[in-house]
Amino acid sequence: MSYVDEVIDMVVAKNPAQPEFHQAVKEVLESLRVVIEANEETYRKEALLERLVNPERQIIFRVPWVDDKGQVQVNTGYRVQFNSAIGPYKGGLRLHPSVNIGIIKFLGFEQIFKNSLTGLPIGGGKGGSDFDPKGKSDREVMAFCQSFMTELSKYIGADTDVPAGDIGTGAREIGYMFGQYKKIRGLYEGVLTGKGLSYGGSLARTEATGYGLLYITEEMLKCNGSDIKGKTIAVSGAGNVAIYAIQKAQQLGGKPVTCSDSTGWIYDPEGIDVELLKEIKEVKRARLTEYAAARKSAEYHEGKGVWSVKCDIALPCATQNELNLDDAKALVANGCIAVCEGANMPTTLDATEYLQKNGVWFIPGKAANAGGVATSALEMSQNSERLSWTFEEVDGKLQNIMVNIFHNLDDAAKKYGMEGNYVAGANIAGFLKVADAMTAQGIV
Ligand code: NDP
Repeated sequence: MSYVDEVIDMVVAKNPAQPEFHQAVKEVLESLRVVIEANEETYRKEALLERLVNPERQIIFRVPWVDDKGQVQVNTGYRVQFNSAIGPYKGGLRLHPSVNIGIIKFLGFEQIFKNSLTGLPIGGGKGGSDFDPKGKSDREVMAFCQSFMTELSKYIGADTDVPAGDIGTGAREIGYMFGQYKKIRGLYEGVLTGKGLSYGGSLARTEATGYGLLYITEEMLKCNGSDIKGKTIAVSGAGNVAIYAIQKAQQLGGKPVTCSDSTGWIYDPEGIDVELLKEIKEVKRARLTEYAAARKSAEYHEGKGVWSVKCDIALPCATQNELNLDDAKALVANGCIAVCEGANMPTTLDATEYLQKNGVWFIPGKAANAGGVATSALEMSQNSERLSWTFEEVDGKLQNIMVNIFHNLDDAAKKYGMEGNYVAGANIAGFLKVADAMTAQGIV
């Protein structure tokens, strides 16, 4: 049996009931096969893949807090410090009822390659909790965040592990967590990113993931003789990534016509009104039904359906496995030319393969949404320098980083005889740097 197959089997056997983690490992190792097989003897001797798929450290802890009725609630907290070969662990904190160790491991594993692709010195990690901030009062969210950070603060620091936001962890949650870290550790340092501008946050961090997604999409289209101007775009999600993807797509001359949340979706043939969307999601924290109520041109539908709309470009920006094989078939039938992932692993493996086989340009999340973590790393640099850069400076650096990421993965795909396979290119380019650093640092 080949080394890649042995390691995939081992991961499935040793990590039962973690399907998302299995999926992420399979997707990465399958596309690395050609590179691994060329160096199989050395990698096998060093157990490089076994070390790569085993997190350096996994921390699971109790998070007790008191709700507004005086009732004690208990959640589970996680931080998986996956790989520090190229820098301090870096990756977000997800607060969502679906969170479990398998989800955090899949996200942490993907983060290793994503962070490597940015070209910046950041290792891979991820964390979170099964706590649901939805429907909680500010005081309850604060109580949870303080309890969560009381434990997490023992394991993180500006030079060891720097968490950030993710689903459910926005500016409010980061603020409460930063305050508690400072109180407990007595340190004013860049231990979290995604901070508010008044206490060390970076301009353009809020926009970074969505903007970065469009910068890499534009570069990829340009290199294939196309561009965003005049294209109809289907976007899923209505959170941080989706909102700023829609905004930048409009600035580049595209027409995003959909968005969605966990209960339904909007089709607005005149183009999404991004200011209205922001008001509903960022300010009122309300449902998309309010968007349809406020805008004549919009239709609201319950459930899933964004990918049934005719579009040139699809940008999944909500959550994992939200674009399946049937969705991929609908996109191809409707003439979609590109799918670029704003969310982490939103496309199932069979859907990805179908899209690629049918000539759809496909950029995986670990490259396409790396603008968020790249700008977090720029926030870390500003905190270390005790300086703040302008919006234009940060946005300019972000643009360069995304263009470089595209060329790195395009070159890697070409070098290994898989031109146009950006999934393989991203995995290979991300992997080679980490593998090199792991080998150089010995068996640790
Ligand atoms: P938000 O919490 O701001 O938004 C998530 C959006 O997806 C919301 O509209 C939410 O709906 C919807 N959603 C969440 N879970 C589900 C579900 N199970 N089914 C359907 N819809 C769902 O998160 P972000 O925009 O920050 O993140 C979106 C994705 O992008 C995630 O995969 C995240 O890991 C990834 N990502 C985010 C980065 C960032 O900088 N924010 C960086 C890199 C990746 P509702 O409004 O109902 O909650």
